[in-house]
Amino acid sequence: MRPFLYSRADGLDHAVQLAREGARPIAGGTNLLDLMKLQIEAPERLVDINRLPLGGIEPDGEGVRIGALVSNSACAADERIRRDYPVLSRAILAGATFQLRNKATTAGNLCQRTRCYYFYNIDTPCNKRRPGSGCSAIGGFNRIHAILGTSDACIATYPGDMAVALAALNAQVEITTAQGRKRHVPVRGFHRLPGDTPEKDNVLEPGDMITAVALPPPAGGRQIYRKVRERSSYAFALVSIAAVVRMEGGKIAAASLAFGGLAHKPWHDPRIDELLAGAMPSDALADKAADLLLEGAQGYGDNDFKIPLARRALKAVLREATGDAA
Ligand SMILES: Cc1cc2nc3c(=O)[nH]c(=O)nc-3n(C[C@H](O)[C@H](O)[C@H](O)COP(=O)(O)OP(=O)(O)OC[C@H]3O[C@@H](n4cnc5c(N)ncnc54)[C@H](O)[C@@H]3O)c2cc1C
Ligand code: SF4
Repeated sequence: MRPFLYSRADGLDHAVQLAREGARPIAGGTNLLDLMKLQIEAPERLVDINRLPLGGIEPDGEGVRIGALVSNSACAADERIRRDYPVLSRAILAGATFQLRNKATTAGNLCQRTRCYYFYNIDTPCNKRRPGSGCSAIGGFNRIHAILGTSDACIATYPGDMAVALAALNAQVEITTAQGRKRHVPVRGFHRLPGDTPEKDNVLEPGDMITAVALPPPAGGRQIYRKVRERSSYAFALVSIAAVVRMEGGKIAAASLAFGGLAHKPWHDPRIDELLAGAMPSDALADKAADLLLEGAQGYGDNDFKIPLARRALKAVLREATGDAA
């Protein structure tokens, strides 16, 4: 690990000031410290934000505001989250381990970096780690890589679970800018596709600090998080689906679906939600939804299996969400 300057912020203004001067926020440290130890990232300054008053889950109009420092464990266990946003609780509990979830924070989880093997191996070219050096995954081993929204520069996936549920719930990220202003970005627009600049994971600007995530009023309905992975715990998603589906009189009244493990960001395609709303559930409908999802999907060899896997997972989730008990 390279030497770095460490400061502990004693308030939001102090943290913003340090961030404006170039300090990088550190929360649970479960991703950033690994990246620093492996010399994938070498920030010269860190600002420890753990003492900021951002650890609460509070009512926010008819919705809920989750502070940036709420641990993943606390969020998943919160009574309101379990009752009104169970897809979020389930997605968080599908990730990592007890110990990691106790340290991991809402903001840190959103900003976690890809698990591409080559990103973690500093001896191989990687455009995300070293822009312009090439992409070792294209033409290399790419079992965990993206099939949607890829570019010639990068085919990495965003690896997290929580953000997939937040995308299905249409949550907003609350950001305090380096100038001290507040702005809100929908989770659906927070992470980026790689394009020509895969080194940029999300829309945060230098000095931006995430202060909270705001959930809209509860959508009700049946909420499902299905994560398909290599083993049943302690593994990242190959394909995941967060679904919020409300039924009325045997028809789908409203649906909101988001997908993980397929792209550089949690994938949300509004055409799927529109197709499902007002429709009678059927196998043919689920196939049409999968056609929309996978239109333009491209495999890179080892990850070709994700295309049929995503179709099967989507059909299974829709069957479960619209079944007799829905
Ligand atoms: C072995 C292992 C298995 C895992 N399995 C899973 C899994 O299955 N599913 C899953 O979703 N995750 C998994 N994770 C990832 C884990 O969830 C993340 O490491 C964790 O959520 C990051 O949160 P943190 O608070 O520790 O972030 P940190 O490591 O502190 O920070 C991560 C990034 O967020 C930035 N950041 C932190 N707070 C702020 C803020 N307020 N504003 C702006 N930027 C900020 C930091 O600067 C850094 O860039 C796993 C991790 C490990 C090590
Ligand atoms: S897929 Fe992206 S992260 Fe992986 S090697 Fe290629 S450029 Fe790097």
